Amino acid sequence: MPESLLFEKSTPGRRGYRLPALDVPEPRAAAVPTSARRTTPPALPELSEVDVVRHYTRLSRENYGVDLGFYPLGSCTMKYNPKINEEMARHPGAAAAHPLQGEALSQGALRLMYELEQGLKEVAGMDRVSLQPAAGAQGEFAGILMIHAYHAARGNPRRRVIIPDSAHGTNPASAALAGYEVQTVHSNAEGLVDVGDLSKLIDHDCAALMLTNPNTLGLFEKEIVQIAKIVHDAGALLYMDGANLNALLGLVRPGDMGFDVVHFNLHKTFSTPHGGGGPGAGPIGVKAPLAAYLPTPTIERDGARFFLDHNRPQSIGRLHSFYGNFGILVRAYTYLRRLGAAGLAEISRNAILNANYVRARLASAYQIAYDRACMHECVFSAKRQRAKGVHAWDIAKRLIDYGYYPPTINFPMVVEEAIMIEPPESEARETLDAFCDAMLAIAKECEEQPELVKTAPHTTARSRLDEVLAARKPQVRWTPPT
Ligand SMILES: *Cc1c(COP(=O)(O)O)cnc(C)c1O
Repeated sequence: MPESLLFEKSTPGRRGYRLPALDVPEPRAAAVPTSARRTTPPALPELSEVDVVRHYTRLSRENYGVDLGFYPLGSCTMKYNPKINEEMARHPGAAAAHPLQGEALSQGALRLMYELEQGLKEVAGMDRVSLQPAAGAQGEFAGILMIHAYHAARGNPRRRVIIPDSAHGTNPASAALAGYEVQTVHSNAEGLVDVGDLSKLIDHDCAALMLTNPNTLGLFEKEIVQIAKIVHDAGALLYMDGANLNALLGLVRPGDMGFDVVHFNLHKTFSTPHGGGGPGAGPIGVKAPLAAYLPTPTIERDGARFFLDHNRPQSIGRLHSFYGNFGILVRAYTYLRRLGAAGLAEISRNAILNANYVRARLASAYQIAYDRACMHECVFSAKRQRAKGVHAWDIAKRLIDYGYYPPTINFPMVVEEAIMIEPPESEARETLDAFCDAMLAIAKECEEQPELVKTAPHTTARSRLDEVLAARKPQVRWTPPT
């Protein structure tokens, strides 16, 4: 049964809680000016406590989360968030710290952030990191602003940023928002940057090349050293979208590959739970020549004392109130400290193994977009199923009936009917096998009873919503019937 709104369940006069009798003097009526006072009571729902508890419990059971089941969510690393991270983030010293309590009383928080910066620098092979950006996209924007500032200080900010056709949509959006014209470099038959095309496009008007490595097809850009040379020879900089860092931890460092700037998605690689749009953290790391442009303030150390440095005349400015999303930083710090260097390398090795396992198990039923060993995610195409009128979209919906969160579909856009699967390191072989069995069963359904797949999901409170309309014309306010 679809759950109705609390407003619709409301019964006049019903209460969940009664305030005790007033035992202090009545406030002076004049304290709130008449113009600011309501003349009619607000139209709030009236329910008993048990009605409210059951309403929210029922809603929570229609929801899906990583504590309930597997997310095959490519490019997003919806992996399990160890509970110790949560415990640390809820520790009163972290959760109750107030950003206005001042430096002297914030030494623990500052030290945690300082040490997290050191850890992230080491993971990425960068010289400095700012923890401020609230998301990967904001990290990208900060990175491009720094690249702009770097070129401007050399007399010409340049006009173009080159981005592969397989890139995540936030890449061109960040470059355009920073005032750059976006130019596309094509992928070759192997799904990698076409180096010949890049050489033709690049010149002294190009500010940067933005790359994701491994790219959004889950493929390692094996020509990265040559690409870095081409970019640097033109005086441009190399930006790495670090959203796929889950494939590289402890194995390869972006800084060693020649990248000048990289953003991290702490809510992806470093396990913070995410979804629903936040909160997140998208720290940005840079090589020394760009350090002066980092967002202000930076976190510095003077012996045993940690402090914020606001005196940074070349900085691109502030990106976030106070220090960024501190709770996310605590989780990432805990995760890093618990795992250490060896643990990080094990994450990436297992993530790569898991993705290749799924790739091999599904190869007979689904076409593989680029048939070679992948990194932490693999991309299939539902072209074969399309012959029966079934699209990637339908297969994703059908997976819900089998108890799985749908994978990323129709991305990257260079693959028709793309189904991108990322089985993170935290998933056991039994989980992957059960998921692959479901995918294979669906492939069979596509052959034998395509209508069943095309009308899925059949087990949810609502089936097919108009998602475009919901995004374009969100209706989030309840209006009483007249
Ligand atoms: C998630 C993602 C981003 C954007 O990161 P947000 O934290 O969602 O803003 C950018 N690029 C890639 C490849 C991603 O997967």
